[in-house]
Amino acid sequence: MTERTADVVIVGGGAVGASTAFHLASFRAGRVVLCERRSLAAGASGRSGALVRMHYTNEPEARLALLSLRYFRHWDELVGAGDCGFVPSGFVRLVSPENFARLRANVEMLRRVGVNTRLIGREELAELAPEWDLTDVEIAAYEPESGYANPVGTTEGFAERARQLGAIIETGTEVTGIRVDGGRVAGVETTRDFISTPTVVIAGGAWAVPLLRSLGVDVDLRPARIQVAVFDRPPVLGTGRPLITCIDGANGIYFRSEGPDWSRILAGLSAYRLPLEDPDQLKNEADPDYTATVRERLSRRLPVMGFVPPRGGWAGAIVLSPDGKPILDRHPEVEGLYFFTADNGTSFKTSPAVGLSLAEWVVFGAPRSVDVRPFRAGRFAEGKPLVGEHEYEDLLGDALR
Ligand SMILES: Cc1cc2nc3c(=O)[nH]c(=O)nc-3n(C[C@H](O)[C@H](O)[C@H](O)COP(=O)(O)OP(=O)(O)OC[C@H]3O[C@@H](n4cnc5c(N)ncnc54)[C@H](O)[C@@H]3O)c2cc1C
Repeated sequence: MTERTADVVIVGGGAVGASTAFHLASFRAGRVVLCERRSLAAGASGRSGALVRMHYTNEPEARLALLSLRYFRHWDELVGAGDCGFVPSGFVRLVSPENFARLRANVEMLRRVGVNTRLIGREELAELAPEWDLTDVEIAAYEPESGYANPVGTTEGFAERARQLGAIIETGTEVTGIRVDGGRVAGVETTRDFISTPTVVIAGGAWAVPLLRSLGVDVDLRPARIQVAVFDRPPVLGTGRPLITCIDGANGIYFRSEGPDWSRILAGLSAYRLPLEDPDQLKNEADPDYTATVRERLSRRLPVMGFVPPRGGWAGAIVLSPDGKPILDRHPEVEGLYFFTADNGTSFKTSPAVGLSLAEWVVFGAPRSVDVRPFRAGRFAEGKPLVGEHEYEDLLGDALR
């Protein structure tokens, strides 16, 4: 087996790994090698619903999302390669009436963080979304600058700019092991060769859970399968402009426009996750009963959707943590080892800030732009899970189980 050297090796070419490579290369972090076992965005990133919203019930994730929004809005200036395909459709968060007080509190928190959001009433929402059934809506949280992006374009754009800045992006290369010598990273074994390196960033999504476990990351990480469904957009819902993007907690769904001319609707159940033993055994197509449930729930908000045929859907593999929030940390006992995991199916939109934080950690010894301590792996053992002060009781997706 041949041997080569790198200053940093990144495991995984999803949105997080590619963003990390871009930021490391921007910081001139030396020889940066990204190893992706399949192709770029082959994991969750390529399957993402890719909603880009700031509405979180906890401040730390909202801060990551807010910092990331700058990248989506100013991609050419901040990244400068490829196209993240950001559509600033606007975003609304709806909740059931029992959650109105929580919605108010969260909008207040988000405004304090600096998010461009405000509460709107039914009349104003009806102007933005005239075709929706708003009978149960008194208030909604509105974000005029949010929307959705193209997750493959985003991943490829980050990787392309990293490449231009000197990083090596290697697809078809699996990292099979990490060599640790005397409490320090010594290198990575790959299906091609051994790369001697003092620093490794693991961003391997669901496929990296066994690797993290083997390195002693002691958190209950559970790979899961989540799905989305796609429908034709009936002309009565308007044409030539995107629908406003929505998370509708009262019906446990999210939806947005899809396609270059916004002629389709992409929708999913917000909290319907199926256990996934082996991400390589993932069934790629959406299940028919899933698609039927999404359509039924969607038609409660957009009645016309009850008559629209589904146009398929797909599934992807994510990783759940016990508190439903991501983990971003460095290994407490292995010098030079950093990782991002537990994306919880909501970490596309934060991938710019997560990659920035990981790169800052490697290059400057600590993340500078965002406080990532709330995402430490040790929070579970400390009995301090990351929980928002005003978490919603949304309609869940368990009905299908
Ligand atoms: C159906 C669906 C809908 C979603 N909707 C949204 C949404 O609306 N908004 C949002 O923000 N997020 C959403 N997400 C979540 C989001 O897509 C993920 O959180 C995000 O893409 C995770 O990116 P990642 O880079 O961490 O992981 P991944 O994209 O999974 O990338 C990991 C990569 O690492 C590679 N890899 C793993 N192990 C190795 C190894 N040993 N050697 C080499 N390569 C390796 C894999 O092949 C893979 O390409 C959704 C996800 C799904 C599946």
